[in-house]
Amino acid sequence: MFNNKELFKTAFKEQLVSRLGKNMDEATPADIYKILGTLIREVIGREWAETNQAYKTQGEKQVYYFSMEFLIGRLLGNNLLNLGMLTTVRDGLRDLGWNLEEIEEQEPDAGLGNGGLGRLAACFMDSLASLGYAGHGCGIRYKYGLFEQKIIDGHQVELPDDWLQKGNVWEERRADKRIEVRFWGRVEISEEDGRTVFHTVDYERVWAVPYDVPIIGYGDLHVNTLRLWSAESAMDPAKMRMEGQRSYHQFLDYNRSVESISEFLYPDDSGYEGKLLRLKQQYFLCSAGLQSVLRTFEKLGLSYHELPHKVAVHINDTHPTLVIPELMRILIDEKGFGWDEAWDVTTRTVSYTNHTLLSEALEKWPVPMVRELLPRVYMIIEEINKRFCGMLLERFPQRQDLVSRMAMIEGDQVKMAHLAIIGSYSVNGVAQLHTELLKNDVMKPFYELYPERFNNKTNGITHRRWLMHANPKLSQLISDSIGTDWIRHPHQLLRLESFKDDPSFQERIMEIKRGNKLRLAAYIQQKQGIAVDPASIFDVQVKRLHGYKRQLMNILHVMHLYNEIKDQPSADRVPRTFIFGAKAAPGYYLAKSIIKLINVVADVVNHDPQINGKLKVLFLENYSVSLAEKIIPAANVSEQISTAGKEASGTGNMKFMMNGALTIGTLDGANVEMHEMLGDDNMFLFGLRSEEVTNYYKFGGYLAREVYNADARIKRVMDQLVSPGPFCCHEQEFGMIYQSILDHNDEFFVLRDFADYAKTQVAVEQAFLNSQSWASKSIANIAHAGYFSSDCTINRYAADIWQIRPVRPLLEV
Ligand SMILES: *Cc1c(COP(=O)(O)O)cnc(C)c1O
Repeated sequence: MFNNKELFKTAFKEQLVSRLGKNMDEATPADIYKILGTLIREVIGREWAETNQAYKTQGEKQVYYFSMEFLIGRLLGNNLLNLGMLTTVRDGLRDLGWNLEEIEEQEPDAGLGNGGLGRLAACFMDSLASLGYAGHGCGIRYKYGLFEQKIIDGHQVELPDDWLQKGNVWEERRADKRIEVRFWGRVEISEEDGRTVFHTVDYERVWAVPYDVPIIGYGDLHVNTLRLWSAESAMDPAKMRMEGQRSYHQFLDYNRSVESISEFLYPDDSGYEGKLLRLKQQYFLCSAGLQSVLRTFEKLGLSYHELPHKVAVHINDTHPTLVIPELMRILIDEKGFGWDEAWDVTTRTVSYTNHTLLSEALEKWPVPMVRELLPRVYMIIEEINKRFCGMLLERFPQRQDLVSRMAMIEGDQVKMAHLAIIGSYSVNGVAQLHTELLKNDVMKPFYELYPERFNNKTNGITHRRWLMHANPKLSQLISDSIGTDWIRHPHQLLRLESFKDDPSFQERIMEIKRGNKLRLAAYIQQKQGIAVDPASIFDVQVKRLHGYKRQLMNILHVMHLYNEIKDQPSADRVPRTFIFGAKAAPGYYLAKSIIKLINVVADVVNHDPQINGKLKVLFLENYSVSLAEKIIPAANVSEQISTAGKEASGTGNMKFMMNGALTIGTLDGANVEMHEMLGDDNMFLFGLRSEEVTNYYKFGGYLAREVYNADARIKRVMDQLVSPGPFCCHEQEFGMIYQSILDHNDEFFVLRDFADYAKTQVAVEQAFLNSQSWASKSIANIAHAGYFSSDCTINRYAADIWQIRPVRPLLEV
């Protein structure tokens, strides 16, 4: 280990010469990055093996977190932090003439996820390892991550994210651990020894090859594994060559279809994507992941009846739901289990997290597609459904309605959420409000049938990446003030409460925020050539672009502020900088049009001399984990303004809170819990409550056009979307936005909440003017953010759902 700077420098220089044949003065930043990564891999290699060995010999229960997405971001800085090598390496590199932050920029940002769901999985990996749990990730090694976003003439343009182009220093290909996955074919049924047996024949084989990424825990060298699967051809080219030209073409077609399985991440944030390829990806993950889990389990030499005591399989949303019928298939067809005992084992092994209430995001697959691609798995799904519906009718003979509401197969569709609930022992929502809505609204009949399965696990974020790594100065100030216990026990941040009204502490908090704002301002200057006022309020909304997240309300409000300034150019105002970052799904035209609108407004506002620095608007392209780490520590105001009842939890809200930004938000997702802790003094709430939204949906009573006609400010900004003026327009550019509000009656209540939002924004400005009181609120936010550390979340999953305890200390085993 390099806890000594000189040792590190010596080892580093040796590596540079022996691996690259270069001296320090010939090396490029990319070389430095690569050597650093390789060094760390070597340092942790032994501990990685020892962690695995300890798990094996101790026979600890293992958790496998199955997720189609892991939005990891960069690893270098976080790995150094968790290894306790950050300072040594930073100082050592500085002696050698390099800046660690610049070297970190060399690393591609691993974008194997769309947004919150994938980032949650990544935070969970960090917490599992840091707390010493035997918990691993299981995902897909997409060749292309989430698209890279460029803004060209104000429009989003998508470019492929070729993140593996220069190799990946963290991964380890394990060809010897490859797994066969089967698609298509047909099922032959026969009798063997008085037992019905099922054989799938004429199937297509694909190799799943694992690439393992070490997940390094904080402090005591606990190294878990994130296993990412890549699809490879299982056809023998030599054999094909002998079979002549026609089969050669088949060979090429087959290869192309295999490669496409792990080629790219679907860029849909929440909508249902009805593609065969997506179903293939899901089964590929489930089958490869599960077979590999069982292979490890078999080394324990136990009966499969013991599986639930040794293995927990958790599914992150419904995307990996096929683990349920796949486990049934393996137990019945390969291990000789009867149906009931297989069902018993399966439903005591699998647990499920629900991530959304949006009906368009509840996954459904066409029956013929599932039946053809996965014939045996489909038979099992059908049988689960048949037995489930039979049970319902037996228990509730008069309730045919229940059967049609709860069946897994309805009409021509397989409903994955129903399968996930029926086939698992735990169903959790991701924030209190979300879980209540699940139980009492969206999944109500399931809650009534299985009340004991439903539970809440409010999301969290790792404070190591989002505070210690992203905001080292704040982290240092906290440690200087309350000691370092908070790092292992983040709820200890509460001790900062006693510094809330300490003027010198307030001054230091403000100083750190100022420094972070200056850094972001320099980044903006360098990227866009726009000077922003570091004394202005940095008001930030960064997240995926979606109707329910209401970036539209934010930008309409900015247009309104612009109008006010134009009406009274000499009036005194609190200078404000509005910062946006958001990717839109490539096929989501309304969202793309909102991106264009933000950019048009930015262009107008930033170049109007009459605005004179009172207002600036920025759209920062390619929002990603590494960009989030630059933006969030610099925010004064966090925009969490979704339509109440729509955002399951949010995790961006927590990152801002932890970095001392004040939230303007609705009572939605985890904002509700933030508000419970912070009270009205430390948070700016506005807007409809979720029951009010529900009532409007159920009973009507909202007319966007009435609001438009009644509020002159609203009418003015809406009209500015479609009539000649500062923001308009080339050929009805924003007509779609206008229509979505006025012709389709504003599905997300943008106009309904506008007045309250505008009023609350005035209160934000007034509060900002009193910088001491603002600092005190900011400290209160940081102090309460420990509750949202994913360490706390993971401890709750471990105790309530997985029934596991930390494996520690490893080295005594
Ligand atoms: C945290 C995070 C998200 C989720 O943000 P929300 O505001 O909760 O939607 C999305 N993308 C990235 C890159 C993140 O870091």
